[in-house]
Amino acid sequence: MIELQHITQRYPTPEGGVFYALRDVSLHINAGEIFGIIGRSGAGKSTLVRCINFLNRPSEGTVTVDGKCLNTLTEAELRATRRGIGMIFQHFNLLSSRTVFDNAAFPLELIGMDKAKIRAKVDPLLELVGLTEHRNKYPAQLSGGQKQRVGIARALANDPKVLLSDEATSALDPETTVATLDLLKRINRELHLTIVMITHQMDVVKQICDRVAVMNMGEVVETGNVIDVFRRPQTETAKALIGNIMAQELPAAMVERVRAQIADSAPGIASHVLRMTFVGNEVTRPVISEASRLFNVDVNILLGSIDEVQGKSFGTLTVLTTCANDDFTRLIDYLRGHNVTVEEITNHVL
Ligand code: ADP
Repeated sequence: MIELQHITQRYPTPEGGVFYALRDVSLHINAGEIFGIIGRSGAGKSTLVRCINFLNRPSEGTVTVDGKCLNTLTEAELRATRRGIGMIFQHFNLLSSRTVFDNAAFPLELIGMDKAKIRAKVDPLLELVGLTEHRNKYPAQLSGGQKQRVGIARALANDPKVLLSDEATSALDPETTVATLDLLKRINRELHLTIVMITHQMDVVKQICDRVAVMNMGEVVETGNVIDVFRRPQTETAKALIGNIMAQELPAAMVERVRAQIADSAPGIASHVLRMTFVGNEVTRPVISEASRLFNVDVNILLGSIDEVQGKSFGTLTVLTTCANDDFTRLIDYLRGHNVTVEEITNHVL
């Protein structure tokens, strides 16, 4: 649905130099998926999302949306193409002097649609986003979540194939964020809409995205299925963004105990701290207790958490294992052979 090829965005600096807001970014976004673009503030996310509808014309590179290369279009053709790309914003961008209905109807008025048709189009949209009873209110009379739902109805008025979301939940409280993301997911499924979510919140990616691109300093440093990026983040940027979701730090008192136990190990017996990650429905056997029996390993659980990523349970477990050196190698092979991701973190922890 969206193909970005070698996008570079340069800006002149006040000192007469050049600043790269985007550097050689290529992305392929499939029809019907929810694609997250995550990075810290200033990473280039907004610049990139504005390239998808050519609100930003990139300095270099091509953008193709639904088979049309935007670089080759005239201004009039570009305006028509943009109608197929809806957008929602962090601060909603509603017109304060218009009612809920009139805000949602605005894009249709702009293209000169007659009133009866507008009504036939907008009423079901307000129903879809749950705002029918608020249709005659003004933005000032609405909560943040309701305002964003007006934004969503307005973005859908022209039957877009693509919805761009620029930090659309960043100004909302956690509960409203969950409800808004649920609505976007429902719209994605029911209307088969491709959604691009710009966010700095890993929780947003975790809740609704299928794939994610991680950005740092104008570059895409990592792309993959959300579950894979969570399981095996490749870059420091991804690790830092995911870090606060997956508990990694052991309490200091526990570190002391682990240290003492490792120092106390008998000859030929070694203790290791392992971090295991597993996705619920991929691990179908009680692998830890099986491995413990098979290889005569003591497994002491230090830290564990279960989270939900893309609707699947996603567990992380930090354990201290104690066994003979040969058995340790076999233990690791066994766990990896049963879909458990294992990382030795003994040196990292101690
Ligand atoms: P993000 O959305 O990830 O916070 P942005 O895309 O807004 O990042 O910005 C990326 C970088 O590009 C920032 O350092 C920002 O200051 C710079 N930038 C964005 N727009 C312009 C512009 N029009 N002129 C100069 N610099 C810009």
